Amino acid sequence: MCGIVGYIGKRRAYDVLIQGLHRLEYRGYDSSGVAMITEPGELNIYKSKGKVSALEHFASNKDISGTIGIAHTRWATHGEPNDINAHPHCSQSGRIALVHNGTIENYTVLKEALSQQGFNFVSQTDTEVVVQLIEYIMDNNHCTLFEAVAEATKRVVGAYAIAVIDRQNPRQIVAARQSSPLVIGIGEGEYFLASDATPIIEYTNKVVYLNDGEIAVIEPDKELKVYDSNAIGKNKIEITELQMSIEQLEKGGYPHFMLKEIFEQPRTLADCISGRITADGKRVVLSGVIENRSKFLNTNRIIIVACGTSWHAALIGKHLIEEYCRIPVVVEYASEFRYSNPVVNQGDILIALSQSGETADTLAALELAKQRGAFVFGICNVIGSSIPRATHSGCYIHVGPEIGVASTKAFTGQVTVLAMMALLIGQMKGTVTDQTVEKIATDIRRIPTLIQDILSQSEKIEDLAKIFTYAHNFLYLGRGYNYPSALEGALKLKEISYIHAEGYPAAEMKHGTIALIDNDMPSVVIAIKDNVYDKTVNNIQQVKARGGKVVAIVTEGDTVVRNMADYVIEVPEISECLTPLLTAIPLQLLAYYIAVNKGRDVDQPRNLAKSVTVE
Ligand code: GLU
Repeated sequence: MCGIVGYIGKRRAYDVLIQGLHRLEYRGYDSSGVAMITEPGELNIYKSKGKVSALEHFASNKDISGTIGIAHTRWATHGEPNDINAHPHCSQSGRIALVHNGTIENYTVLKEALSQQGFNFVSQTDTEVVVQLIEYIMDNNHCTLFEAVAEATKRVVGAYAIAVIDRQNPRQIVAARQSSPLVIGIGEGEYFLASDATPIIEYTNKVVYLNDGEIAVIEPDKELKVYDSNAIGKNKIEITELQMSIEQLEKGGYPHFMLKEIFEQPRTLADCISGRITADGKRVVLSGVIENRSKFLNTNRIIIVACGTSWHAALIGKHLIEEYCRIPVVVEYASEFRYSNPVVNQGDILIALSQSGETADTLAALELAKQRGAFVFGICNVIGSSIPRATHSGCYIHVGPEIGVASTKAFTGQVTVLAMMALLIGQMKGTVTDQTVEKIATDIRRIPTLIQDILSQSEKIEDLAKIFTYAHNFLYLGRGYNYPSALEGALKLKEISYIHAEGYPAAEMKHGTIALIDNDMPSVVIAIKDNVYDKTVNNIQQVKARGGKVVAIVTEGDTVVRNMADYVIEVPEISECLTPLLTAIPLQLLAYYIAVNKGRDVDQPRNLAKSVTVE
């Protein structure tokens, strides 16, 4: 994970770097650091364990001048989070400074070889070998920084986005990428560099996304140069115009990004749906699917690969596609799929589901499927990210930047896109009637208003959260379309409140998990009026009979469960396949308020980072 920022131009680099690190802090916050060249030969590096604010405090009485610099916010993979392991890392002579996002797989071999050449290592990171290697190559080959970086990238195995500066040359940053993202912003006589576009947008909307294997030489007042990994040919650069606005990156009066993102779901889902359902409500239009009509009509199987919350959305997608398209769907954890020698046949479709579009395991899984002949389709949020660029086709969820580490609006965006896809493919295949499509498409259009209604109950959920703040364990139960909702509700609670929670299919509980039920173990049961409603009611009885406390999420007007459960939260009635979009909202709010009551750092929970660009 980690966030990288770089600046070269006329401004004070430190200001751009710190502001950029704040924007990228969602990617990791174990430590952060900056390196600036103040004049030829003068390199200042400041690093600090903890969040960017700790770095700012540390640097407050230091020399922060200089118009070139690189910076990093870390999510540790090799070596504990401390000042020494924080980036930027420096070469032995102190000449070269480097920041890195990714993991170097052959670092032990390289470290050994460099140690034999007399290099001393001060950190426990994999990253330090890269900067030492670059200096070693520069010294031995008497070459430029660019040539040394190009040579080093040939010897390094793994994933990296790096930015490198040489204190002798305050007019150049060299950057390279392999499997970790890097974006270059083009200003007037200045350049910006970052892991994603959020640190760049306030200065320019013109960006270049670096491709795998590319190396960029960035010099102010000169044209941007991008080379391929052999450092032979200069590659053509493709300038993209960013569509994002600064307001989208700010909290807009909410105490946390997560709460803002929960509350903006009526709007983000309206954006997600916009232009994708015809005015008469009879058809869905997703160009990525329509353009590849024959692939979807002829496939015998769809594989969805995803991680975390996206994996839960994928499970709902499986129900949707199997129900309306009658195509078998398997859902795989991307991290398991890629190492399992999976059976992938020509004609299979693999859907890669990822909010960031940078999830390393999902990216690797789709590359593997592509090699084995599958048609790969991406469903992502971040425009221009690696997965959309690696897939044959796809569609964006268009919910805007998601900054809170716990995913909320991306989940509902993913489920909405999967629902629209299922209707479209089903209609193309003739496996769903036009009436059903019209009914569900009309309901999809109602979702933003219905979510708004649920959000108006937030105070009630806030009160409920007070009752359960001190529980040590939670069980989340659901069935059918809402079994993945139960998994997602449990994950939300775990990741931000650090309370242990388990999501379970309600009926499976009696095969073991029911042993956990007692007075201290609350169960959150999703008991909306669906085709298994009566069965779920039985499951609630089973919990109550064992003294368990039940919070039930029910369909508006339900009196049966109201009389049985300890607390109920109502959601409006909607087509069954869309209920996860509504039940998600109280689950998100419950987790949020419990975490706030516990004093947790909701937007940046411990040990986590948002965009998982490492294995
Ligand atoms: N491997 C590097 C470290 O542990 C970078 C980690 C990352 O990109 O998440 O410092």
